[in-house]
Amino acid sequence: MRDILGGKGAGLHEMCRIGLPVPPGFTITTEACIYYFKHNKEWPEGLAEQVSEAMAELERVTGKRFGDPNNPLLVSVRSGARASMPGMMDTVLNLGMNEEIARGLAKLTGNPRLAADSYRRFIAMFGDVVMGLKPKKGEVDPFDAIMEEVKAEHGAKHDTDLDAEALMEVARRSRELVARRLGREIPADPKEQLEMAINAVFGSWMNERAIEYRRIYRIPEDWGTAVNVQAMVFGNMGEDSGTGVFFTRNPATGENEIFGEFLLNAQGEDVVAGIRTPMPISELARLMPAVYEQLLKAREKLERHYRDMQDVEFTIEKGKLYILQTRAGKRTGLAALNIALDMLEEGIIDEETAIVRIEPDQITTLLRPIFDSKAKKEAKEKGLLLATGLPAGPGAASGRVCFFPDEVEERKKEWGKVILVRIETSPEDIKGMELSEGILTSRGGMTSHAALVARQRGKSCVVGCSALEIDYPSRRMRVGERLISEGDHISIDGSTGEVFIGEIETRPSEVMEVLVYKTRSPDDAPLYKRFARIMEIADNFRRLRVRANADRPSEAEIALTLGAEGIGLCRTEHMFFEGERIDYMRKMILAETESERREALAELLPFQREDFKEIFRVMNGKPVTIRTLDPPLHEFLPNTEEDQRELAKKMGVPYEKVRSRVEDLREANPMLGHRGCRLGITHPEITEMQARAIFEAACALKKEGVDVKPEVMIPLVGHINEFRDQESIVRRVAEEVFAREGVRVEYSVGTMIEVPRAAVMADEIAQGAEFFSFGTNDLTQTGLGMSRDDYGKFIPDYIAKGIYRFDPFISLEPGIGELVRIGVERGRKTRPNLKIGICGEHGGDPDSIELCHRIGLDYVSCSPFRVPVARLAAARAAIMEKAKSEE
Ligand code: PEP
Ligand code: MG
Repeated sequence: MRDILGGKGAGLHEMCRIGLPVPPGFTITTEACIYYFKHNKEWPEGLAEQVSEAMAELERVTGKRFGDPNNPLLVSVRSGARASMPGMMDTVLNLGMNEEIARGLAKLTGNPRLAADSYRRFIAMFGDVVMGLKPKKGEVDPFDAIMEEVKAEHGAKHDTDLDAEALMEVARRSRELVARRLGREIPADPKEQLEMAINAVFGSWMNERAIEYRRIYRIPEDWGTAVNVQAMVFGNMGEDSGTGVFFTRNPATGENEIFGEFLLNAQGEDVVAGIRTPMPISELARLMPAVYEQLLKAREKLERHYRDMQDVEFTIEKGKLYILQTRAGKRTGLAALNIALDMLEEGIIDEETAIVRIEPDQITTLLRPIFDSKAKKEAKEKGLLLATGLPAGPGAASGRVCFFPDEVEERKKEWGKVILVRIETSPEDIKGMELSEGILTSRGGMTSHAALVARQRGKSCVVGCSALEIDYPSRRMRVGERLISEGDHISIDGSTGEVFIGEIETRPSEVMEVLVYKTRSPDDAPLYKRFARIMEIADNFRRLRVRANADRPSEAEIALTLGAEGIGLCRTEHMFFEGERIDYMRKMILAETESERREALAELLPFQREDFKEIFRVMNGKPVTIRTLDPPLHEFLPNTEEDQRELAKKMGVPYEKVRSRVEDLREANPMLGHRGCRLGITHPEITEMQARAIFEAACALKKEGVDVKPEVMIPLVGHINEFRDQESIVRRVAEEVFAREGVRVEYSVGTMIEVPRAAVMADEIAQGAEFFSFGTNDLTQTGLGMSRDDYGKFIPDYIAKGIYRFDPFISLEPGIGELVRIGVERGRKTRPNLKIGICGEHGGDPDSIELCHRIGLDYVSCSPFRVPVARLAAARAAIMEKAKSEE
């Protein structure tokens, strides 16, 4: 029921059903929240009555009364959307208090300190979350400031050193602060408090952080949040009470062990906020063995029930355990892989589930670099180890220090790589975190905000590095005598928690060592074996084939080792830049007559032929799609006068000639100009040379006994006649080469579909083309009428305003998806067996891959390093489709 109750609500009700100790409560549905926003912030009819009835029931179950100073019921009011959005929305604890009730609670519990502590927390939370009292720019949290003020007056070091009266004073000053700053009092009537808190939780669905989070994780705006109202339990009742978080398995490594941390005598938010650094859960076994036993039982029950690793919040009230929340735990790529395979081996889940449990993007963390162990050892020997914190997000990262999340974007432009260093992070910081190579905090534990975000996003992260004394105003941090300033290089190892001064060389991951660099044998690479196993399972489920975009033999080789089943796009122009090739290319462009042009092309031919031979050899019989020249010619000529003069000298032509050629080639809209098949149409000799290189290479290899499957692809075709023009050149040259070489090679000629006309006229184009490959970079550009080179300037506003939910050049936009669907349908009407793929950047994006699967493409083609992602995404798409059809 998570759509209606939200993740947290569904979890609470479910846990209650299976007999776990959950504090009693009720959930207001996400539908009520959606109604609230659609109807000018009004509650749906009947909600007010239902809330009253549920509160009455809660009073009955707990034997307490809401608003009764002699026996008060206090509640928590928490958000909870369908998808987990940790820390993004609001929560109010201890609701139902006023000064009189606080005094009553003190009497009732015989614990005046607890009552006062709960009351001052309530005032601060209500003042902030519900009434909206936020710190002014540059100001520390004003409620924290009051706490510090009172602590100073009492000579107290920690919050826990303050007695009940001092805490009541904190509450009083906090209340006055709210009244003074906002001109409104915090209501004393618990019913009014509840209504306002429910509205605030609804409202937090639309706060800036939540909107930003939804944008990054592509969560729809219209889901809304549920509101959970629950009887409070108190982790701050003394040393036999506490609060904590645990994962049913290790979220960093996946190891099958309980993993978590807790604080004694504390309330819920203290752990997640990273204010005090908590104790590891194993300490609980020592301090409260009976509770620890209960915790282990709950762990087992939860895993058996949910058949997935859970992230659980708990509170201990006077030695009694309560579970406050459970949800599937966020995990690193490494943990995702290990948990999926372990649970498969343990018989808890099946193969389909194992695949679906790994986010395709997560697998890239297994390919990411780690520190070179020699370089790291040297750094240690040189005394560059600065400090050690908790290893919260594996992987190595080097970069320059930046202390302010909202400056990361700017600094990154200047410095390339940035490590974000904070005392602690908060949900406001998410954008800066996203853009950093790695994150380092001085406070907080393995479940702090920084740690959660880093694990989810595959960032290297070290938290709780308490040796760092960070001073924001001076933009510096200190460890003992050592001073690090903004802009200095540091390196962090998120697998060990080590922080180093300076840059440390990184080394390929185990998987890369085995597969790509071949410097490690698979037998002594346990992680590689697991990677290979999950890939093997994925391959058994997927229908889509996976190819790679590769222009050089070395790229083809990497792609092949990572599982590519062919080359989906070889951009031949990329071969024209290396070494002396660019000179011949430029000579060709500067040529004034066809014969001069042919001369220059003849010099390019051997280079192309050798490149193709190598690629064919590497791919050894797997299909290779080679595209004829595509970019506008000006891209090959130098831009500046200085470079143009140098070129003129080198070519032995007057500078004026070079300059005027550059002028000739200048276009107002080069992306819509003289490029793609238009080049081959105006200069058939270019296509001719490329075709000759392809077929000569193919014949040579065939003679060597190597199997070859060239597919020649014509770019930017919109009209069948464009295709016919180029196809005839390719076929004529093929026949000439076969006749001369005395062998024939099987080949096909197809087209890219990258302008809307080609998609809608696909039936006609398929009369000629033997295969299609959707060039969704250009199809997005031409379909949306949005320049792929310029859209970066305005797309952030589009996304901020919700016009597009995501970057259409990263993930296939539905309108472009529809063009693809039309192209497939019409193309196959003419040629039922038409082979169809995609080779735009979207070919490596999991959501787009799912769409490609549904539309019925034969393959996706992506960059070599994304091949494993695509294999997993393709398997997941097939599994999800099957699950849907069985529903
Ligand atoms: C495309 O347009 O999607 C494509 C693959 O071609 P290019 O990016 O080279 O224009
Ligand atoms: Mg293109």
